[in-house]
Parts: sequence; structure tokens; C-alpha cells
Amino acid sequence: MIEHDRQARLREIDRRHVWHPFTQMRTWMREEPLIIERGEGNYLIDVNGNRYLDGVSSLWCNVHGHRKRELDEALLAQAGRIAHSTMLGLTNAPAVELADALLAIAPRGLARVFYSDSGAEAVEAAVRIAAQYWGLKGKTRRTRFLTLNGSYHGDTLGSVSLGYSEQFHRHLRPLLFGVTKIDPPHVFRFHHGLSRAAALERSLAQAREIIREAGPELAALVIEPIMQGAAGMWDHPAAYLREIARLAREAGALIIADEVATGFGRTGRMFAVEHAELSPDLMCLGKGITGGYLPLAATLATEEVFAAFLGEPDEFRAFYYGHTYTGNPLAAAVARANLEIFEKEAVIERIAPGIEQLARALRERIAPLPHVADVRQAGLMAGVELMRNPERGESYQVAEQVGNRVIKAARRRGVMLRPLGDVIVLMPPLSIGESELDTLLGVTMESIREIVEAA
Ligand SMILES: *Cc1c(COP(=O)(O)O)cnc(C)c1O
Repeated sequence: MIEHDRQARLREIDRRHVWHPFTQMRTWMREEPLIIERGEGNYLIDVNGNRYLDGVSSLWCNVHGHRKRELDEALLAQAGRIAHSTMLGLTNAPAVELADALLAIAPRGLARVFYSDSGAEAVEAAVRIAAQYWGLKGKTRRTRFLTLNGSYHGDTLGSVSLGYSEQFHRHLRPLLFGVTKIDPPHVFRFHHGLSRAAALERSLAQAREIIREAGPELAALVIEPIMQGAAGMWDHPAAYLREIARLAREAGALIIADEVATGFGRTGRMFAVEHAELSPDLMCLGKGITGGYLPLAATLATEEVFAAFLGEPDEFRAFYYGHTYTGNPLAAAVARANLEIFEKEAVIERIAPGIEQLARALRERIAPLPHVADVRQAGLMAGVELMRNPERGESYQVAEQVGNRVIKAARRRGVMLRPLGDVIVLMPPLSIGESELDTLLGVTMESIREIVEAA
């Protein structure tokens, strides 16, 4: 609890001086901001002691709940040694040991770990590694990146170029590089009226065509495997992932798997590429890597990619990229402890019933609700799309703020969510229990009903 005067001061300063990300600040400043003070297990606790189930894992990164004892201890133990030293010209024990632990669970072939601080930077690094790789190989034509429509790869300029959204990024357009895009096989989004099988066929036909044309210029295919998250929660079958990866490889391109959201158990496997037995050339990790404790990210590379960068100093083959806090020991120590929990608590096996429970509830309780146009799920990652008229494919007006109103209604019922437009995202910590998940689903249902009936 924080006493009244201090709360009032915090609200006043926030309103006057803080600029929040992805936020229309005019709307924000009109409202009373909710201030989180503590966390406990799968709950967030505000300055007045109110508890909220953390339904989106504090923006998709929390894994084992808040105040997880082993993670707290790892953080404190490392703080007792050193909080930070640089990876430029030096190394440190937690970052080294974490690299070893990551590679032990990573898909076959990945052999090198390059650290950064956020998912966007992990993707940025992958893009630049791929670009420089082809330059170093003398294949100077290979400069094009192939990405999926409806993808999100982070918010640095390179990552925005990959996952461009007209709505959010049009002012940046002159600064971005062009990419080649293909449509994933999502029936609801791209292939109305087709069966799932026909949509898959059509998507692959388009991919074949585009990859055949662009093939010699392709540097890499960049993909969020199994579930394209932040651009709207678009799932695709493993067969699609497997086949476009094969096509891209056949054309000579590298495969970059952006597992920033899907990694660390989120889709029911440690990494989503495992659903397709895919071993990428580069893999981007972030979000859940520290269990949701600290900013850390990593780009994993094969030895083949890495080896291209070796040479004498005067050849200038090195990867000239990095950030001040790269390989931060506090974050690395917590990430190590995070991986140990996965093993000790058999987390991947343990979440299977929850994934089934979520699937059943989406199918039986949520999909039949009025104005629910589509439900999408991969593991403990789901999206519920609301529309004014699902039959006619008619969306709500942006001004109606239906998604936002649903999550406000959920908040009044003690559940914290965050929508993507009119897609209600459900992404609880992997540690969520059966009755907590039932609460999350029940509240989501009631909140949707309350708002769409009024809208
Ligand atoms: C969140 C996300 C990113 C960006 O990660 P940040 O840590 O927010 O920079 C990149 N790719 C995917 C797939 C993501 O979900």
C-alpha cells in the first residue's frame, strides 16, 4: 500500500511528465492511472492493495509468476557480486553459463549466442547478421527479406521494416527498407470462404511463386513460428512453417525464427519451431527469457553463419553491433535460474492440461458469444476477435474502442488484460493454475458480453 498523498503525487507527475509507450496520451491523461506496486504469483497488486490476475503475463513475458523464489534469489545473489560489467573486451560468468544452457535446449545446429536487451534488438541483430553474412560471402545481391503479412518483429527501424503496419508506422515510411511479403494461410484474415486445407494450398502456391521470383535476392525468411502475435494473433499450421522454410532454404535464403513471443514454452513446446522440426539459421529470443524479470534478449546463430565473420582485424569482418548493457550479469543470472525452473518443474509437461482447458473454453464458452468473429490459439497464447457483424466481416469503428472497453470491464472484475485493437489477448503466465485459468476465461466471457451488448 502507498499512502494517499504519495499516490496523488505519483498520479500528478505521471500525468504531467511521463510519456507512455503505444499510448494515446490525451486519453491516458483523462483517466486515473492504475499504479502497480507489487506482484505475487500470477497476481498484480496495486497501490491500494487490489489484486488482479495477470492475464497477459505483464505483456507476454512473465513465465513462472511474480516473486518466484528461485528468480528472486538468483537476482539477489548476483547483485551481491556485481550488477553490470561490459561484454566488450570482457566476459562474465552468468552470460557464459546462460549461453551454454540456451544452446542445450535450442534447436539443433544453433551454436552461438549474441546478447542484446530487447526482442526488437534481437531481431535487429539477426537482420544485420544476415545482411553482413551475405556481404561477407560476396553474394551482394542477397539483400531482400521475406516476411509474412500480419507480422510484428519489434520497434527498432529494422524490425519495423519487417513488420510494417500502415496505421502505426506510416510516418516512418521514408526511413524504412522494403521487404517482400507473403500471406499466411489464415482463413479468417486472408482466405475468406476457403477451407483450412485450401487456404494452406493457396498460401503455399503464392509463396512458391514469390520465392521463385525473388529467390536469388533473398537474404532470409523472417517468421514468427506457429503464432504471429502482436500484429493480431494469427496462427498457422506446422505444415505451413515446414514448407515455407523448405522453399526459402531451397532458394538459398537463411531462416530467421523470431521466437521472442513464442519461445520458452508459450506454444506448448520449448520453442515453436519444434512443432515443425525446424532448425533455423538464426533464432531471436526475448520476453520470457528471464521469466519476465529483466530486459534481456539473444540472437542464436549456427556455426556456419558465425564462421563467415571470422578474419583478421584489418579485414573488418567483425559484427559491429552491440549495446552498453549487452550480456548484463543480473539479467543473465535470472535467465539461468529461469531455465533451471523449466527443467526442475517439468514446465512443458505441466502446462499441457491448461492448454487443453483453454482450447475447450475458447471453443465451448467464448466462440459462441455474440460478436465473437474468430478465436485463435497456440498453447497458452490466444486471441479472441470481436466484430460488429462477423457474418459480413464488419469491424467496429476505432472510435468505439471496443477492445479497450472489454479490458476495462475485465479490470473491474479483477483481471488484467491488454487488447490488440478489437482482439482480446489471453496470455497468462505458464504457472497459471486450473481455477485461475477458469477465472480468466469466465471474466473474459462476462466482460465481452457486457461490452458487445452495449456497443
Ligand atoms: C514483443 C516482440 C518483439 C519485440 O520485443 P521487445 O522486447 O518489445 O523489443 C519482437 N518480436 C516478436 C515476435 C514479439 O512478440
